[in-house]
Amino acid sequence: MKNILTIPVTLAAGLLTAVVVSLLLFGTAKTTTTVMYMFNSIFPGAAPERTYSAARPEAEIGQASVLGDSDSSFADFKIPQVREVAFHKKPSPLIVPTDGIAAHKNFLYDPVSHGGVDIWTNVNGKGLEAGSSRGYLVYAACTGTVIRVYQPNEEIEIKCDRLPEEFASEVPSLDIKILYAHMGDAVTKERYHSLYVGQRVSKGQQVGWQGNVSSIAPVNRVTHLHFGIYDLSRSGRPTVNPESYIGVPATVVGQIFKTQQ
Ligand SMILES: [Zn+2]
Repeated sequence: MKNILTIPVTLAAGLLTAVVVSLLLFGTAKTTTTVMYMFNSIFPGAAPERTYSAARPEAEIGQASVLGDSDSSFADFKIPQVREVAFHKKPSPLIVPTDGIAAHKNFLYDPVSHGGVDIWTNVNGKGLEAGSSRGYLVYAACTGTVIRVYQPNEEIEIKCDRLPEEFASEVPSLDIKILYAHMGDAVTKERYHSLYVGQRVSKGQQVGWQGNVSSIAPVNRVTHLHFGIYDLSRSGRPTVNPESYIGVPATVVGQIFKTQQ
């Protein structure tokens, strides 16, 4: 009897220790998020939607009412006032990764609630390839190495080679990684990229297409790219505002992004 109980007791003790250590190191919000994320991964559908807090930086936290899975779901969505492209005049270390528009206030860059900017291909369902959820091309914003591929969300992370010193005073950090998410089709499961861990990519190289798959907010069927930048030089690897890296504001509704200036 004692032997039979050893494994579950050891597992339980290990999990408890992990939770306590996580609480001490990372705080309540991040620990809760991680536990919920693990729970939801093991028991898909068991947990209620939107259990992810802002602590998961790539989380898509949105108003599902404007981001549903059919054209009618856009009924209450107003096309934002389009803001002309306002590139900074000075050179930027990264390129704009895709074309599109930052169309909704909930999906702008915010260090607490949304750690990247969502760049939409489509507004009111327009702009897609015919009969497809595939949107505009996505380009590597920096030269670097693919360090993570997470298929359920069709997201990849690319660790940039250390950015040139000349930008040291322009950006928060020269050591960054970039998250590109949602490069796949939510329904057909078609993948819109073919990247693998360890792959080298060059700045400007095509790495995929915008898509509408989201394992985090499955009802979000807007074809878009989530573009997030993480500072690897600081503990916790916080997100940083992409603006100083790409030369385009990431906190303005209606902001247009263009890969060609
Ligand atoms: Zn996003």
